[in-house]
Amino acid sequence: MEKRKEYQFPRDALLAWFGANRRDLPWRRTYDPYHVWISEIMLQQTQMERGVEYFNRWIALFPDIRALAAADELTVFKAWEGLGYYSRVRNIRKAAGVLVGEHDGRVPDDYDTLLGLPGIGPYTAAAIMSIAFDRAFPLVDANVARVFARLQDIDRPMKERGVQRELHELLKEMLSDVSPRDFNQALMELGALVCTPRNPDCGGCPVRAYCEALQAGTVAERPVNSGRVERIDIVMACAIVEHQGRIFIQQRQEDDIWGGLWEFPGGRLKDGEEPEEAAVRELFEETELRAVNLRPFRTVIHHYTRYRVTLHSFCCSLRGKVDPRLHAAQQWSWVAPEELEQYPFPAGHRQLIAALKQDLLFPSGSRRCCA
Ligand code: SF4
Repeated sequence: MEKRKEYQFPRDALLAWFGANRRDLPWRRTYDPYHVWISEIMLQQTQMERGVEYFNRWIALFPDIRALAAADELTVFKAWEGLGYYSRVRNIRKAAGVLVGEHDGRVPDDYDTLLGLPGIGPYTAAAIMSIAFDRAFPLVDANVARVFARLQDIDRPMKERGVQRELHELLKEMLSDVSPRDFNQALMELGALVCTPRNPDCGGCPVRAYCEALQAGTVAERPVNSGRVERIDIVMACAIVEHQGRIFIQQRQEDDIWGGLWEFPGGRLKDGEEPEEAAVRELFEETELRAVNLRPFRTVIHHYTRYRVTLHSFCCSLRGKVDPRLHAAQQWSWVAPEELEQYPFPAGHRQLIAALKQDLLFPSGSRRCCA
């Protein structure tokens, strides 16, 4: 990216457009640092509409950092259920504890202190400093990177280190004499609403007169792709164990990718293994319980950013003991089917619970799982 010291950018036009078009998002009503922090973490890998829904529910449950720190784990995880990337919610809980213990229940107005909190990296710290405290920290998210790739017709991937560094420097210069809070949000909003990945609305763009890609006819080629990420297929199987009208569930260990969430025991298929064999093996390896009388239940598919997970499930009963010895979980429980919804589960397992609920309400012969 060629550095343009004399780079002209219509900041006033952009800010005027933002003033007239910005979305009414709940954290923009107060810019409370706690609200900004939670919204920033929630919106990672989450669409705005969904993020707002979760945010409103979250703030109703935990109106401030002290309420969050005092809440029990089950309630906090349940409020996050469905957003995925559960290390984020684990870190939020830890950070809330630190904020209450060391910062009087407040988000500190200091970049380096923010960086020391669990789950807060350079981008999130800069976002809190800029949006909550109106300080001059540049923000380059995917929207801002796309806007500048087009404005400056950049023919290199925006993720390249040199391109990122130069864009940060340029933005730092542009933040002088404006409200960093408004300017950063205006750029992000432009990328989200006008300069969209496909079919940008160049006719309605407040900075179109300065757009080099528009003049060069290269808008559709910007930003330059940094290479396709192949999606990885994963096939898993799990056992829905029934005993005396109750179902066995276990809670994953803290250091697990789904740490803190509950699940039906299961795991990946080994090479050459059938899903039913895997369900029996995984149940035994994880709990030392022996599954018998397996009946196929649902197969569900869930897409993650880099993975596609196919999950086969089997209802079964037990031979022998019913008290497990855990090897992959921190605790277990036998619960009534209608109690399953009180626990936080990963996405694929939630689909199974919805199917179980449907079958309980509308039993239909062989597909029915719960006796
Ligand atoms: Fe994006 Fe079009 Fe505006 Fe250029 S003119 S910044 S491509 S919306």
